[in-house]
Amino acid sequence: MTEVITAIARVMHDIKRRRLEVLRVVDLTPRMRRITLGGPELAGFVSLGTDDHVKLLFPQNAEQAAALETLVPGAGKDNGPQPEMRDYTPRRYDLNTLELDIDFVLHSDGPASTWAEQAKPGQFLHIAGPRGSMIVPDIFDSYLLIGDETALPAIARRLEGLAANRRALVIVEVENGKEQQVLHSAAEVNVIWVLREGGKDNLLTTVRQIQVPAGSLYAWVATESKVSRQIRRVLLDEHGLDEQFVKAVGYWKLAGSDEE
Ligand SMILES: Cc1cc2nc3c(=O)[nH]c(=O)nc-3n(C[C@H](O)[C@H](O)[C@H](O)COP(=O)(O)OP(=O)(O)OC[C@H]3O[C@@H](n4cnc5c(N)ncnc54)[C@H](O)[C@@H]3O)c2cc1C
Repeated sequence: MTEVITAIARVMHDIKRRRLEVLRVVDLTPRMRRITLGGPELAGFVSLGTDDHVKLLFPQNAEQAAALETLVPGAGKDNGPQPEMRDYTPRRYDLNTLELDIDFVLHSDGPASTWAEQAKPGQFLHIAGPRGSMIVPDIFDSYLLIGDETALPAIARRLEGLAANRRALVIVEVENGKEQQVLHSAAEVNVIWVLREGGKDNLLTTVRQIQVPAGSLYAWVATESKVSRQIRRVLLDEHGLDEQFVKAVGYWKLAGSDEE
């Protein structure tokens, strides 16, 4: 019998390292590139949570590249040379065709973004994980989903999984109008796009001004680390949300933005 999950649950997985081939490279928008990875090593891949992440491995020298085949993910630096690792959302996977889509923000710096800029079919990328999945069952009346471009893959996955009788308020900060993506859902979805270009609004002030949807609510936030923490405080202190149903995560760190 299939177990029905009625509360938020964490499920752990064995971390597996996989060598996958770049199958396709498609630009969704000027700053968001979808790279489809695939191959026989994707067999058995599992991602149960809409905000799961895999580690993508980017060797920076020959020694790190040679170590990729024997690397034990999660074993730590004492176990030999480690490549650079970055977290990315499995946007879509299909075990029949053995394909995995990863959507990369092209922010023009760092091993992941620069790899994505040059990626071509036929190249290989090692991935590891997911290590675990946070499963948020579709039991809430409404969902408040807040983030920047890096959050769009997880937001899109959650929206695609919602039932028709749910409501979602989505607030996404992107560079400009060209970065807006079409988001699919059976639920009633209201999307507020906050455009960075022009500098009139930002995510935090927009979140301050929203009317929080009525009924039971799950809120999820993922953006730059400091901004995520600030938004979490606004949701708890100004909108009075229940802390146990608010998840706010830093998806990347602006250099020098550690202090509150
Ligand atoms: C759970 C999780 C899931 C994620 N899923 C995705 C995903 O599906 N797609 C995705 O694109 N990202 C995703 N991210 C964010 C991604 O891991 C970070 O943006 C990461 O820092 C990119 O690595 P990099 O090597 O390109 O840059 P880094 O080497 O980490 O950083 C280099 C420089 O770029 C800056 N920088 C990093 N990211 C950004 C950005 N987005 N915008 C502007 N400047 C930036 C840093 O401040 C730094 O100065 C996710 C993060 C987490 C924690």
